[in-house]
Amino acid sequence: MISTKPLIVGNWKMNGLRSATGELHKLINGLGEQGSPSAEVMICPPLTLVMAFSHIASESELQIGAQDCHTEISGAYTGDVSAEMLADAGASAVILGHSERRSYHGERDRDVRDKARAAYRAGLQAIICVGETEGQRRLGLTFDVLRRQLHGSVPASATRRNTIVAYEPVWAIGTGKTPTREEIGEAHNFIAQELGSVLGGEASAGFRILYGGSVTPDNAAMVLSAMDVHGALVGGASLKADSLLAIASAQ
Ligand code: PEP
Repeated sequence: MISTKPLIVGNWKMNGLRSATGELHKLINGLGEQGSPSAEVMICPPLTLVMAFSHIASESELQIGAQDCHTEISGAYTGDVSAEMLADAGASAVILGHSERRSYHGERDRDVRDKARAAYRAGLQAIICVGETEGQRRLGLTFDVLRRQLHGSVPASATRRNTIVAYEPVWAIGTGKTPTREEIGEAHNFIAQELGSVLGGEASAGFRILYGGSVTPDNAAMVLSAMDVHGALVGGASLKADSLLAIASAQ
């Protein structure tokens, strides 16, 4: 059964040494104190911490994910990590197609789609990111970009169980700028409809769509109340347990 609670995913990006384990314990304790937390919470730490965090979180409700994977199971791909390795390290999900991977590593929609297939092969959930740049929004291309990214990045074998879509307007990531509640709702509603055209109506029903881009404890209630928003992908504000706990309990 897919939970009806919002899902809050913390993307730590390239932040965190072993000493950050203290924040993880704080987060797990905070979730425990909430008894039945109002949101599901996942942390995607850098690769070096995935195994240790999975071990620490194994007795708790906290889920652990990763931030990227290779398409192949194994082989001569120096520096890369397969989805199977992430699953072996205890991850249950992997973020794919984040705008930082798309821009700094040249990832194209078809690369994201192939990585998503690799994630399914390894039994991981794929969190597929889509979103327009500021220039694209200014030119009125937001929905064209989302349509192209969804059709190119989401495999035909995606289901509501193995895939989560994250709408992350590139101009909102790490900038402190956010779309309005109406704009977030419009984009999420468009994504929900478009998934119907990618996967067929029945297959696309019930997909979780997260919003990401400068979510903080101050705006989380607004974001989570927008139409077709089923949670948040949080970067900067996920590094401190207190702020992630505040986001997870904001509704
Ligand atoms: C992100 O990078 O996925 C993100 C949403 O970052 P931030 O919350 O810092 O804008």
